[in-house]
Amino acid sequence: MHDDVFCKIIRGEIPCYKVFEDQDVLAFLDISQVTKGHTLVVPKDHYDNFLSVPQEVMHKVMDVAQRIGQVQISMLGAKGVNILTNCYEAAGQSVKHFHVHVIPRYDNEDGLRLEMKDSSEGLNLPAIAKDLRID
Ligand code: AMP
Repeated sequence: MHDDVFCKIIRGEIPCYKVFEDQDVLAFLDISQVTKGHTLVVPKDHYDNFLSVPQEVMHKVMDVAQRIGQVQISMLGAKGVNILTNCYEAAGQSVKHFHVHVIPRYDNEDGLRLEMKDSSEGLNLPAIAKDLRID
């Protein structure tokens, strides 16, 4: 038995604002609401993060995330959606239970700042691609 906050929500020990539930997956509002409608999608079984979750569970979670993103657009008037999952502390993971953030976006001044700097200068891209090849 795990004692992370999402396992406690799944067991009903902590309340949540539920958006979706089936046998395998729960989705609920993030308590912090980076933007209006910010939702978390989690598997009911415990896995630490995206990198350790079995493929079929990840697919179920992503399917729900996609449907919630669609509703954020149609019902909340969002103009876009960011899908985000943090793996390990270095990437900002604070709750060690796999979860996907589904964050509706309204404009450039809403609550989320994502910056992707171009840091490619001096990098050996062919060598990096070779290291990363998975086929
Ligand atoms: P991460 O930093 O990717 O691990 O995200 C964890 C998220 O869980 C944060 O955005 C928190 O606001 C959210 N969170 C923590 N506790 C709760 C809770 N009791 N109910 C809903 N969301 C929570």
